[in-house]
Amino acid sequence: MAPAAEEHAPARLTVLSGPSGVGKGTVVAEVRHRYPEVWVSVSATTRRPRPGEVDGVHYHFVSDAEFDRLIAEDGLLEWAEYAGNRYGTPMAPVRERLATGAPALLEIELQGARQVRDRDAGALLVFLAPPSWAELESRLAGRGSEPPAVQERRLAIAQAELDAAGEFDVVVVNDDVTRAADELVGLLTAPSPGSLRSSGAHEQRAAAPPSAEPI
Ligand code: ADP
Ligand code: 5GP
Repeated sequence: MAPAAEEHAPARLTVLSGPSGVGKGTVVAEVRHRYPEVWVSVSATTRRPRPGEVDGVHYHFVSDAEFDRLIAEDGLLEWAEYAGNRYGTPMAPVRERLATGAPALLEIELQGARQVRDRDAGALLVFLAPPSWAELESRLAGRGSEPPAVQERRLAIAQAELDAAGEFDVVVVNDDVTRAADELVGLLTAPSPGSLRSSGAHEQRAAAPPSAEPI
């Protein structure tokens, strides 16, 4: 059966990034719930599942050897090491989805977002920002999914990630999950990044270098 999102052509690859604890997973879950036609890539990771996380739904949980094989087979659109684990976007499902003319959404960290930008100049890069640093700290601690030492590690990375917000096409502030999800869905089907940039609605980014291989 043809996916409902085909009505939303043209195809657009949108990347949602932002510091750990800002609410990326929460906003994407809201999008999935209210807009089931939005297709979200399922990443591969070497991280262990958190309670409630389901293999193949939240992530493909793989061993180090399996991740090595994905890299060797050129099966990842991008990948990065983050806080001691590796994460990557399987290439084939994204290609297949975009080939249908329907938008696709990736939820990935900063290094991966930069790799996508370098490979696909047409991708739209969206940065999810916290209302304040104090709120980010409180959300990360409140989630309670990592021990304090890991939270500290993620906060240290978060500072560098916040500094990179200007590299993105659009900044969405996650002050309210419903509003942020609506804004993100609007962007998935918005005109090309080029026309968004020229609207002056957000900061302009540097031109992407030539890609090794298109998506
Ligand atoms: P990320 O995926 O970016 O690491 P999560 O989605 O796990 O972040 O969210 C981190 C914590 O912040 C969770 O406990 C979540 O319930 C909470 N949270 C997310 N968005 C908001 C928001 N807009 N207001 C208040 N709390 C939020
Ligand atoms: P978490 O362990 O909290 O699920 O994710 C840690 C970080 O990895 C988050 O910033 C998340 O966006 C990012 N991430 C998840 N999947 C991918 C992926 O496929 N590629 C990259 N580069 N980052 C990812």
